[in-house]
This record gives sequence, C-alpha cells and structure tokens, in this order.
Amino acid sequence: MYKPVLLIGTALCVASLGACTTTTDTTMATATEATAIPEGTGIFAQPSALPFHAPDFTRIADADFKPAIEQGMAIQRAEWTAIANDPAAPTFDNTIIALEKTGRMLDRARSVFSVKTGTVTNDTLDAIDAELSPKLAAHSDALYLNDAIFQRVQAVYDTRATMNLTGEDKALLERTYEDFVHAGAKLSPDAKAQLREINTTLSSLSTKFSQTLTEADKYQALVVADRAALAGLSEAEIAAAAQAAHERGLDGKEIITLQNTTQQPKLDSLTNRDTRRELFEKSWNRTSDGSATDTRGIIRQLATLRAQKAALFGEPDFASYQMYDRMAGDPQTAIEFMKGLAGPTAKAQLREAAAINEEIAAEGKNFSVEPYDWDFYAQKVRAKKFDLDAGQIKPYFQVDRVLEDGVFYAANKLYGLTFKKRADIPTWHSTVSVYTVFDADGSELALFYFDPFKRDNKRGGAWMSSFVSQSHLYGEKPVIYNVLNIAPPAAGEPALATFDDVTTMFHEFGHALHGLFADQKYPSLSGTAVARDFVEYPSQANEKWAMEPTVLANYAKHYETGAPMPADLLTKVQESQTFNQGYALGETLAAAMLDMDWHTLPDGKVPEDVNGFEAAALEANPLHTDLVPPRYRTSYFRHIWSGGYSAGYYAYLWTEMLSADTGEWFDEHGGMTRANGDRFRATVLSRGGTVDYGAAFRAMTGKDPEVEPMLRQRGLLDETD
Ligand SMILES: [Zn+2]
Repeated sequence: MYKPVLLIGTALCVASLGACTTTTDTTMATATEATAIPEGTGIFAQPSALPFHAPDFTRIADADFKPAIEQGMAIQRAEWTAIANDPAAPTFDNTIIALEKTGRMLDRARSVFSVKTGTVTNDTLDAIDAELSPKLAAHSDALYLNDAIFQRVQAVYDTRATMNLTGEDKALLERTYEDFVHAGAKLSPDAKAQLREINTTLSSLSTKFSQTLTEADKYQALVVADRAALAGLSEAEIAAAAQAAHERGLDGKEIITLQNTTQQPKLDSLTNRDTRRELFEKSWNRTSDGSATDTRGIIRQLATLRAQKAALFGEPDFASYQMYDRMAGDPQTAIEFMKGLAGPTAKAQLREAAAINEEIAAEGKNFSVEPYDWDFYAQKVRAKKFDLDAGQIKPYFQVDRVLEDGVFYAANKLYGLTFKKRADIPTWHSTVSVYTVFDADGSELALFYFDPFKRDNKRGGAWMSSFVSQSHLYGEKPVIYNVLNIAPPAAGEPALATFDDVTTMFHEFGHALHGLFADQKYPSLSGTAVARDFVEYPSQANEKWAMEPTVLANYAKHYETGAPMPADLLTKVQESQTFNQGYALGETLAAAMLDMDWHTLPDGKVPEDVNGFEAAALEANPLHTDLVPPRYRTSYFRHIWSGGYSAGYYAYLWTEMLSADTGEWFDEHGGMTRANGDRFRATVLSRGGTVDYGAAFRAMTGKDPEVEPMLRQRGLLDETD
C-alpha cells in the first residue's frame, strides 16, 4: 500500500506525512463475479531493471505519469475488489497480506512523480498534480469505506488470539485494523453518512483556509510611502520593495510582503520603530481584520466540525481522536510535556528581555522591548556577545566535503557504513549525486541520492523520501533520497553551505538512516513509517554529530587552504547555539499549546470569538506571550488548519526531547562509538513501525524520556533553577 513519506527538514516547515482529511467519492466497483486484474502498461508496470530497482530517469517522460497513476489506481481497485469478493473465508494471508501487496504500480509511479513535482516541476506536472490529487484522495477512501473489505479485516482481527501471530505479522494486523477503524469503518450507517458529509466539508474548508491565507500573505503587505521609513534595509532590499510596489501599480511606493510567521525577516534590520510596529501589526492582523482574507469564520467551522467528528467516534475532543497512533498517546500527555518546558522557557524569556532592554537603554532610548523590537535588538546583543559573522564560517563548509567527510564520516564511525559514488544511475537533475551504501560487513545496503541546491522549480525546505522501501516481502533494498535548498554556487565558485545547511544535511541523513537500516518484512511498516511524534527522532538525533569535535575536524576545512576551522571560531559557533532560545522555543511552544487549546474543545463548545479565545488561552499559559507571541496566530496557523498537524504541532518538540535525551545517553556512554551506534540501530533505526515507541526509547536509553536534556541543550536550564 502507498505510504506517503515526505519528511520535514528543518523544523517548522509545512510538510505532509499524509493528509489528515479524507473525502468521500467511492469509485470502487463492487462486482459480484471474480475480478479480473488489468495488466499494467508502460515504464511503471514493472520494477525498473536498474540496480536496486532505481527509477530509470532516462526513460521516464512527463507524459507517462497521468496514464500510469490512473492505471495504477484502476489496478489497485481491482485488487481490492478481488479481496472483497474472495469466496474463501478471511485469513491473515488472503486479506491482510493481500491488502499489503496491492498497488505496486501506483507506488512506483507516485514515488517518481513526487520527486519530479517537488524538485524539478513545470506547468505540465503541476497540472497533472492538481488533476490527480482529489482522485488519489478518493482512491484511498475507496479502500477504507469499503464495508466488504472491512468485514474481512474485522474477522481476521477477531480471531487474532487463536492465530498466534507474532512480531511484524501482529503489528501489521493491528495497524491495518486500527487504520480502518480510525477512518470510520466501524460506525453505524447513519454515522458513516454524517462522517462522509463532515469529511467533505472539512476537506473543502481546509483548502479554502489555505487559499485565503496565501492571498493574505500576498496582499496584506505593508505599503510604505516614504522611503525613509525603510532605513536599515539594504539597497537591494529597497529596490525589491519598490519593484513589488510597481508590480501592483503603486509606483513611487515600497511594499514589504509578509512571510507566514508572526515575526517578519526584515524586523531585525528596520531602524524606524514605527515601521517595525506597522509591519508587525500587519502580520499579526493579516487574517483577522474583517477583510476578504479574514479566516476566522472558516476556523470556527473547522473547529466545530472536527469536534463533531470526534464525537461521532465517541471521543471527547478532536485531539483525542487524532492522537490514536502517536507515541504521546493522548492530549494530556502532550500538554503536561509542554507545561514542563514552559516554566524554564518563561524565565529565559525574562532574562533575554532584560538584556535587550539594557541594549535599548544603552542607546539612550526610553522604551521597553515589544515583540516588534525583539529581533532588531537581539541582533545587537548577539553581535556584542559573540562577535560572529556568518561570512567567517561559510568558507569552512564546502558542500561535498560536509557530505562525504562529515555526514558519511559520522555514519562510518557510528555504524561502520561506507559509501561509493557512482555515475551509472540516472537522476532527475545534473546536480544530483548517487552513492551505493555498504554495510559494515561490506554488503550492499542501499542506494542514496543527494539533491543539494535550490532551484526555481523546487519546493522550499528539505526532506527525505524513497523510491523503493526496504522489505523482505519483495526482497527489496531501500532507494532513498535527500533534498535540500542550499544556495547554488556562482559559475566557477565552490558550493558553500551555511551552518544551518550543515545541520540540515545531518538532519535529513538521520531520516535516511531510518530508511536504509529498515529491516522489515512489510513495506508499510518499514523504516520511516512511524508516528508523527516519533519520525523526527532519528533525524534530530543525527544533528548532534555535526558538532562532534572529531567529525568537525574532518569536514570543516577552508575551501582554499584546507586549514581546519580555528578553535576560537568553533567555540563561538558552539556558544551561539544557545542564544535567544527563550524566544525561539517560546514562540514554538506558544503555538503548540494554542493548537492543543483549539483541539481539546468538546463538541458544542467551540467559541464564537476566535481572537477572544486565543487571548484567554495565551494569557493562561506560563509563557510571556506579550513579549514572545506564538510563531503562528490561530488565524494564520497553516500547519493545524490545512497542513495535517492538527493536535500535532507539539511533535516537533516531543521528538527534540527524545533526541536530546538520547544525545546525553551517548555522551554518558563513550560518545561516538560503533557499539553505541549499533545499539541505536538495533533499538530504533532498524525497527520501523513494528515496535511500541516508548519501549524502543527505553531499549535505547534504559529509561523514559525527560525534558531536562532538551532544556540543557538549548541553554535554558538556569543554574538557579
Ligand atoms: Zn525532519
């Protein structure tokens, strides 16, 4: 079965592990006679003949996707119908494994389509994507709302006690059953009808929210009539602002467009306080100003329908419904976790505000810091404290060297992996490189692609995905890729990375490790097929090795001289990691708590006044949200209203807790050793979705996760706490 794997790279970008909403159109036929499975045609009909079944990009044309995906859906529907109509009594093999084996051609076509639309898209591919998206959503409903199939799944599930299933077989049965139940298979016919209606409305409301927000980000820009108001911006930035105004027929003015976060990038350099305040207020009010892009009405409907949906399932609220497969398990656990972070974060916010107020006073100004002053003065505090210029660091981070002598080197020290670059595997772009990954015993483990550079037709952010999931069922080894958005080098110049890019490279390779160490029988349980609040654990854990002294010494070398990064520069980089973390963690935490506030509302309790509810919720938490507002306000919180992160934004922080705690376990047990790496591989990285997440964490560290290591890593544990 298709397993969407689009993993977020740097924290806080919207990416999807599979949309949370479903639509209803069930196009599946319920034939009564034995079902003929259509034969596939074209390049995706069979596994590729290349090593590891790597896609043969030299033979794939844009025109291949639509027919292949449509044919793939038709084949899978026929496969489902054949299972539904099987005259034999339901068994684990003829129902659960049979379901697992459906949709092979569709998987092949979609995995390649996904890399093309994500990294080298064009109008043709975009049009196919827009046309096929709703069809694919309806396609998955055709499975989960099919009563005949669910009756068979239920029958197998009911006899599980007598079947003596173990390990992965047991996990596959349980997950298949739970997915059906979660999608509504057990509801009464009346409730099912209501659910279909709710799902359809939710789906269109989410789309409407997303489109409205996109409009707001474009048109709720700050228009400036007097160029002096833009003091502090560079000439190039001012020229861009004038060009933006020109494009809207506002010649002679300047426009600062909005980014979809509360804080805006230019707030760190605008010297005019009134401009800063106006820009911030534009941002804060962009979708709650009563204009055409006001989203509050949509949000009330979304929250109301989600609470109703939860009630249909007998759950007290949407968060309880949504968290059925998460490591945290229930909303209260996630809320308690966040409360544990909030106290120390609030204290750090006051310390940081005090330092900023000192800086303001030192300039002879007579005001206290407001959210729109924060970045501007934090920059100045940072410059004084660390004297660190990004331009000093970059020459030490040559992209190829960071990959081969940093990321791969750490994987060699921890897991014994070796890598061999190969030129015989076709890719989707000339700057993509391919490596065979060899295990410690010298055997071939996987194929790994690396697509480093930003392009105009590439989606932003960074992610990992795969063309082939590891599985013993098909005897397939993983074929995995990492995508980043590093600024490409000018002609003739070396490709250099920022420190953030370096961290992201280690992060994405952490996801890759999760995929390439997979050791599962079934593809749908393989590798990264884990819960949202677990999937970022391996990736965040791998970030640690970017700063490991022996690893750094191996990759951080000046691109011209080969000289290692000077010790004092290195120290500054390390120390600056904990700067401003009361703000950084606080804004994420405030947003994550707001997400839970909205999604723990019982049916019938959704408030009329969106902003009033939000104000009360922000007031009630221990954070200083008057100084550090949430990263996303309710009315422009894309992750939770249309991004699939409803009752899930906490997951970014939850996995940081897991990875920081694991990092301290490594430190206390000898650090970067083969034995420690093998332990992480055995307990977490190789287990896919076959284990209880809490048990996997305990197997690795010998205890339950705690928040202190994460707070320590961010420098938020005051000595006096
Ligand atoms: Zn990630």
